[in-house]
Amino acid sequence: MTTTPLLTLNNGVQMPAIGLGVFQSSPEDTITAVYAAIGQGYRLIDTAASYFNERQVGEGVRRSGIARDQMFVETKVWISDYGYEATLHAFDKSAGKLGVDVLDLLLLHQPLPSRFDLTLDAYRALEKLLGDGKVRAIGVSNFMPEHLQRLLANTSIVPAVNQIEVHPYFQQAALQRLHADHGILTQAWSPIGGITSYRGGEKRSFDDPTLLKIARDHGKSAAQVMLRWHLQEGRSAIPKSIKPARIAENFDIVDFALSTGELAAIDALDTGVRGGPEPDKITLETFKREIPEA
Ligand code: NDP
Repeated sequence: MTTTPLLTLNNGVQMPAIGLGVFQSSPEDTITAVYAAIGQGYRLIDTAASYFNERQVGEGVRRSGIARDQMFVETKVWISDYGYEATLHAFDKSAGKLGVDVLDLLLLHQPLPSRFDLTLDAYRALEKLLGDGKVRAIGVSNFMPEHLQRLLANTSIVPAVNQIEVHPYFQQAALQRLHADHGILTQAWSPIGGITSYRGGEKRSFDDPTLLKIARDHGKSAAQVMLRWHLQEGRSAIPKSIKPARIAENFDIVDFALSTGELAAIDALDTGVRGGPEPDKITLETFKREIPEA
């Protein structure tokens, strides 16, 4: 069976480089996608409390029959649950829905720049959960350099991961360098540029001529080339699909290698245009969502 390389986090925990994402996967599709992915060899699943499908991720894992210690399950705390006590409770809600005692990686989904005090308290709760052995690693998502700097200055444990938007059209090179300086792993969301197409974008990564040319030269697809690019540049990537054939395709990336010239050609596709929301625009007023109990 195909496997992907393991990445070692800054606390020594090992994480599979490639995982399945389940953002916008309906509850029913989530069960079958997770089940199909595990059957293909995936051992990392990325979900979030705000995707409202943690219960189905747990169900897909259980149906697969895989041993719990063979899986790496990652989820995220939504901003409505920021604050020390609220974030400790958010762990109980997520772990309960996923049906696990220990989470492999727990992230803060977003910085809350307008309430950074709450963001810091939420992160301190993650530190407590790590100390108590409830989570094996902790991290953040969508933190920009200024948010990371404030976090590092005010908390004790360097995040293991910052999960950020990275695909050929939006690469955040300066932020990735900051991660490298601090031993923070970059995990790419929308790693095959899903956000360039599912929001009706005009410039779809899947149609990019440079990617299609490289793909043809290797007998691979544009998606596979993008995932191989993440792997060779040292990132984790969590492509989402609910289609078994694409789930398999996205994992079939270990039998070819991109040249330095090809990597550079993909690096040169960066437009600097973000597909997702500006992290500074996320506020409790605009993005508050009730996360149900387990
Ligand atoms: P992706 O880059 O993974 O692209 C997913 C889209 O591409 C879907 O529409 C999927 O459709 C389609 N697709 C999947 N595989 C292929 C393929 N081989 N060829 C052509 N099309 C394909 O985008 P996402 O935004 O979903 O990001 C991946 C994951 O990252 C999310 O699921 C989530 O876990 C995480 N994420 C985190 C965010 C954060 O704020 N931290 C924000 C956004 C995402 P179909 O399912 O029909 O195959």
